Parts: sequence; structure tokens; C-alpha cells
Amino acid sequence: MLRDQNIKVDTEKFDSLMNEQKAKAKAAWKGSGDSSTEGDFKILLEKYGVNEFVGYNNITYTSKIIALLDENFKEVTSLEKGTTGWVMLDKTPFYATSGGQNGDIGALEDNEHIAIISETAKFHGLNLSKVNVENSTINQGEEVEAVVVNRYEIAKHHSATHLLQSALKIVLGDTVAQAGSLNDDKRLRFDFTYPKAMSKDEIEEVEDLVNTMIARNIQGSVEELPIDEAKKKGAIAMFGEKYGDTVRVVKFGDVSVEFCGGTHVRNTNDIGSFYITKESGVSAGVRRIEAVCGNSAISYAKSCIKKYEDVQTEVKNNNVLVGIKKLKDQIKELKKELEEAQNSSSAPVQEEMIGDTKVVVDIVKNGDIKKLVDDYKNGNEKVAILLIQAKGEKVMLVAGSKNTAVKAGDWIKAVAPIVGGGGGGRADFAQAGGKDVSKIEDAKQAALEFVKGFIKGNG
Ligand SMILES: [Zn+2]
Repeated sequence: MLRDQNIKVDTEKFDSLMNEQKAKAKAAWKGSGDSSTEGDFKILLEKYGVNEFVGYNNITYTSKIIALLDENFKEVTSLEKGTTGWVMLDKTPFYATSGGQNGDIGALEDNEHIAIISETAKFHGLNLSKVNVENSTINQGEEVEAVVVNRYEIAKHHSATHLLQSALKIVLGDTVAQAGSLNDDKRLRFDFTYPKAMSKDEIEEVEDLVNTMIARNIQGSVEELPIDEAKKKGAIAMFGEKYGDTVRVVKFGDVSVEFCGGTHVRNTNDIGSFYITKESGVSAGVRRIEAVCGNSAISYAKSCIKKYEDVQTEVKNNNVLVGIKKLKDQIKELKKELEEAQNSSSAPVQEEMIGDTKVVVDIVKNGDIKKLVDDYKNGNEKVAILLIQAKGEKVMLVAGSKNTAVKAGDWIKAVAPIVGGGGGGRADFAQAGGKDVSKIEDAKQAALEFVKGFIKGNG
């Protein structure tokens, strides 16, 4: 039975319902949660009055279904298997979305579970729960066991929100004022007035403070007080929020006193641990802190450790900083090697002596061929040299001649058209560009034939 935490509910469906509920809560997370929709609310109010919330001290409660509504909020006497509607219990343990706290989810059951509660909200003061009827018709007047699921996790996040507000005031100053909040069973969000982004140190200080408050084992207490008396106690009220003559004051020792209708842990220690996951800006002068505690804090810490382990594996070092440093050094080294390779020819160029003239015609993959031509001219008494290089889609040709009958400009002019280019130059130096890389071998042959027509063996 659900009551024994041995939950029978189809978990996949449950998750999807919970997401749906969260989306709705998101849409209305700042308001009081009292949604106005056309429906039979007036009729219900006249007939039954406002139903009582008994969830502060109960997460299961035997309740009577005093009214049922269809999806359009029209009163019906029963909801059949497979349908969705709303249920009004005479006394309900389901908390209705308000004050930033998400409404409860859970189930209604008798001997076996009969319906899932996917959302709880207030409509004209009526506390209604959205019900998805699973396996048997539910009827008005029936008695059911109402079971709240995941309340403890919601309570942890709500109580942590109170501690967070107090920690923010300590670290950033008393001018910090709540501008909105949201807590559900997985996370909390707290918006507050502050003119600039928090520093890393401030965030850490706030996080540490909240964890200290948790570790201090502070007992919580709840009091219903006349509003003036509550204010005298220094309870923090939310600006713009409407309060009645008497207010509920939630207190954690000397660290937090707030007007609050939400559900809370009995002792700060119940919260477990607290991590701030994000600090961001919402609008001018309003910042937002997102945080996790309870089971979500454990999952968060685990996922951080997992990420760290993944990085360890990836950089092949238990000390990831050392691993990353090694990789950076490797990159540096490789860059250097690459640069060196690009600046030097990858293979020795082909050269031959024809008579007393050195003749060099070759395709050079890497390196600076202009420099190579100069080097040959400087290192030889008689030299005719033409080098070809493919660079991506383009071809580069450079020719040089020293003390030979070959005119470098003519040589280039004869060869460049083969690779779809043109160019020319002086008798001792010339260069050209081309754009047909596939023809460089042909160009090389043509260059050889050309040069041999000028330089003869006994030349
Ligand atoms: Zn609160």
C-alpha cells in the first residue's frame, strides 16, 4: 500500500503527472495559488463551505469525498475509471500550491489504490486535488485514505528556503528582500532584491551558513499569532502578500522567523545538506538562487562526483589538473612540431647535374618554396630551379635561375597554364599561382622538358 511507502502507482505515469504539475506551479508560482476559473465553486462553497487542510501534521488521512468535479469544474457524483477530474475532501492532507510551495501529489486509496492525485490547488478558498482515476470508479460520499507522496522532500526544500533567506541577509545585508520563491520535492528557487551579481565567495559563504544552520539541529516551531504580535517578533513578511488578522509564523530558533503557510521539517537537521546550484539575474535589481537539499542534494553531489570521474578517465589521470596540464603541454609540443614541419620540406627535392649546372624541378609538399629557391641560388654557382607546391585548392610555382640560359619568367609562363594559372617575372626569379591541383605532375614534366631544352649536357 502507498501508506507503507510501498508505492503501487505506475511510476512512469506518476513522473509525467508530476512534471505537468510542476509546469503549472511554475506558471503561478508567485501568486497565492488561488486560481480563478469558471466552475461550480460558488455552489460548492454554499453547500459545503471551505474544506479543512489537515496536512501540517498528517501525510495520510482518512477523508470523505464531499464533492467531485469533472475536468471543467462541473459537479458530478462520480468519476469513472480512466477519467480525470477534481476531488474535494472534507479534511484534506494535500497542501494546495501557495506561498511558493508546490501543491501536494499522492493518491487516494481504499483497499487497493484507486486514484492518483497529480495536483492540488485552491479555487475560491476551496482546496481541490486533481485526480486521475486509475482502476475503479470513485463516488461522492465515499471514504478514502488520502496519501501524500514526497511531502518530506518538499518540506526540506521549503525550510531550506527560509534558512537561505536568513543567510542572505547575514551575508549581503538586511536590505535583501524576498521577491518570490518556489519549492518542490527536487529543488528550490529564491528570488531576492539585490543590485548586483553575488561573488563566488559570497555564494560559498551563504551555502556554508545554511549548512551550519542545518547542522546546528535547530528545532522548528509553528505558531498562529495575531498579525501585530507576529510583526513584533520580527517575522519576515513578503512584500505585497495579503495576510489575515492572524498569521502562521514558522520559526527555527534564532535563525529564522517568517510568516508562512507552508509545510516544514521539524528540525533543520532533517534538511540533510544544501548546495547552491546557480546564481543568476532575473531582472534589474533581482537575483535568483537555485539550490537543492535532502535527497536531491545527494543526487547532485553524486552527479558532480560522476562528472569528475568521467574527466579523470578522459584525461587519464586521477589528478585531473595534472592530466589537463599534460594535455596542454602536448598540444603546445604538437603545435611546435607542426610549425617546424610546415617550415621545412618534407622530403629532399630531386636534383640533377646537367653539365656543370644544377637542375632542380620538383613538387614540394611542405615548407617555404620561395626560400628554398633562394637557398639553392645562394648555395650554387649555376642553378636552374622550379618548385611546385599544392596548398589546399591552389598551386604555387616558383622558379629561379642563376648563371644559366633559362629565363625564370619564361619558364613560369610556359608551365603555369598547365595548372590553370599565369604569371611571370624576372630572368632570375619568377612566380605564379594556379588552381588545378590535379595537374601538378604534368606541370612538373613540362618544366623538366622546358629546362632541358636550354641546358645541354655539355652546355
Ligand atoms: Zn515559507
